[in-house]
Amino acid sequence: MRSQPALHQASCGHCLVEQGLLLVREAYEKFKTDSGGKNADYIPYLAQVDPKLFGIAIVTTNNQSLTMGDVKYSFSIQSISKVYTLALAMEELGADQVFQKIGSEPTGRPFNSPIAVVDMPTHSGNAFVNAGAIATTSLISGNTADEKWNKILAFYSKAAGEQLKLIDEVYKSEAATNTGNKALSYLLAKYDRIYADPFESVDIYTKQCSVGVNALQLARMGATLANNGVNPATGERVIKSEDVPHILSTMMMAGLYDGSGGWAWHVGLPAKSGVGGGIVAIVPGKGAIAVFAPPLDEAGNSVKAQKVIEYVADKLDYNLYSPASVGLK
Ligand code: GLN
Repeated sequence: MRSQPALHQASCGHCLVEQGLLLVREAYEKFKTDSGGKNADYIPYLAQVDPKLFGIAIVTTNNQSLTMGDVKYSFSIQSISKVYTLALAMEELGADQVFQKIGSEPTGRPFNSPIAVVDMPTHSGNAFVNAGAIATTSLISGNTADEKWNKILAFYSKAAGEQLKLIDEVYKSEAATNTGNKALSYLLAKYDRIYADPFESVDIYTKQCSVGVNALQLARMGATLANNGVNPATGERVIKSEDVPHILSTMMMAGLYDGSGGWAWHVGLPAKSGVGGGIVAIVPGKGAIAVFAPPLDEAGNSVKAQKVIEYVADKLDYNLYSPASVGLK
């Protein structure tokens, strides 16, 4: 494990990286021995991932990057995939259709809650709870399940600026145990809120959650959002500019499941977590920070990742609602 952060590219005049260099090292040292939380264990593969793995990566909108710790380790993207499937659905159907078919309301319930599906007026809730995410996946067009899946993987790869791959063992582990998600898909069908075969949609969703990313790739996916939809590494437009605010606002509202309100209160940055232990936070116009550390809190959010991002964002005054952030200080 590296003990010094690595800055890729020379001095950049970009404060997220230059100040970030110092802060990332500080945060890494401060939280590396934090033993709070527990690996997800409802997906058997995740229970046996080394809980000490810890990686931090920042990528800026002008494609500077810095990394620290276990940034080469490929972990499953899990729920962070939901952000990019939402983007792809909007690309295909337009934002208004997606809003009508999925909705964007907080559920106030855990991410896998069937009660939310019954109770919510939209049933699907929003694109970041499992039910809404499975419904969003069901919107992706294609003649076969493989065609849909390949399109999703290609889209994520474009956002990462590198070809991403399925972690087959994660997929198998999750596919063997995802009865809850199958139940959600049939509940959605009862309310006409799923738009393709329910089990096929769950299977594609399970694959998208099993895509492997390392912290640097995840930070680059985040930086694509921070850069108004253009991947700063490849210069390629991935997400329509007009879709970006819908995605970021959904991240602010529901990115950390039922921990989202506390996150907005303390950090004030759009972010998305996954039960694989990753969190990516977006600083619009500036860049993204991705942290990977498997142990999760009760809501399913990486404990160390939340602490690192809060620490760095606080020191850099990146809370979107802070006076400094809007030029009032
Ligand atoms: N694949 C996971 C699930 O469906 C994703 C959940 C998550 O990361 N919160 O349960």
